[in-house]
Amino acid sequence: MTDALLETRSLRKSFGALQASDDVSITLRSGEIHAIIGPNGAGKSTLIGQISGAITPDSGQVFLNGAEVTQTAPPARARAGLARTFQISQLAMEDTVLQNALLGALGASGKPWRFFRPVLNDRALRDRAEAALERVGLQGHMAMRTAELSHGQRRQLEVAVALTLEPRVFVMDEPMAGLGTEGSAKLTELLDGLRHQAPILLVEHDMDAVFALADRISVLVYGRVIASGTVAEIRANAQVRDAYLGEEA
Ligand code: ADP
Ligand code: MG
Repeated sequence: MTDALLETRSLRKSFGALQASDDVSITLRSGEIHAIIGPNGAGKSTLIGQISGAITPDSGQVFLNGAEVTQTAPPARARAGLARTFQISQLAMEDTVLQNALLGALGASGKPWRFFRPVLNDRALRDRAEAALERVGLQGHMAMRTAELSHGQRRQLEVAVALTLEPRVFVMDEPMAGLGTEGSAKLTELLDGLRHQAPILLVEHDMDAVFALADRISVLVYGRVIASGTVAEIRANAQVRDAYLGEEA
C-alpha cells in the first residue's frame, strides 16, 4: 500500500475502438494538488468519471483511503469522503445560494430528499452550509438566487457544496473554465488554501492556474499518462511540449 488518499491502478476504459483510459495509474496524497492536463479528448473526464463511480472501468481499480471502491456507487463514494465538482454545473439555478448549499449538506447527512423542507430549519445542517459558504467568500450572498451570481461566484458555490460533505478528497473537472482573469485568480486563491483541508485532483486547461497550484502534474494523451512530475519537470519535458504545452511552457 501507499499513503495515497486516492489511487487508481491500471485503469482501462474503451468506447468502441477508442481507448479513453489506457493503463492509468495515479495517486493523490495528503496536502497536495495533483493536476491532470492534456488535450481535448485525452480522457481526463473519463478518468474523473471512473474515480467518482459514474463510469465503470473495463479493468483496473480505484482506492479511496486505502479501501477499494471500484464497484462502489457514486453516493457511497461521496459518503466515504470523495467530493466532486463538475465540468458542467449541477447547481439549481432557481434556488438560492443557501438552498444549494443546504442540498449539499442534506446529501452529506445521508437523510432522504423528502426531508428537504425540515432541513431548512435544521440548525446543524444550516450551520454546516453557512460555514461552507463563508469559507468560499459567499456569506454576503446567501439569499440571492443562484442564477444571479456571476460565473465565478457559481464556481465558488460549487466548491461550497462540495465542502458541505466535509470531504477527504476533492476531484475537480476544469473549475476555471469560462472564468475571466479576476474569477480565475480568486478561485486559484481558494483552491490554494483548500489543499490543506483535503487534497485536490485537478483537471484543468488554465495553465496559469496549474503552474501556480500544482505540486505534481500528470499529462494524459490518448488515454495514457505520458509524463508525471513537478511543474519544473513538466515544463522542461520535450515530449510534453510537443504533445500539449507548446508555447505555454
Ligand atoms: P477530455 O475530458 O480529456 O477532453 P474525455 O474523457 O471526455 O476527454 O473523452 C475521451 C475520449 O472518449 C474522447 O474521444 C471522447 O469523444 C470519448 N468519449 C467520452 N465519453 C464517451 C462516451 N460515453 N461514448 C463514446 N465516446 C466517449
Ligand atoms: Mg473533459
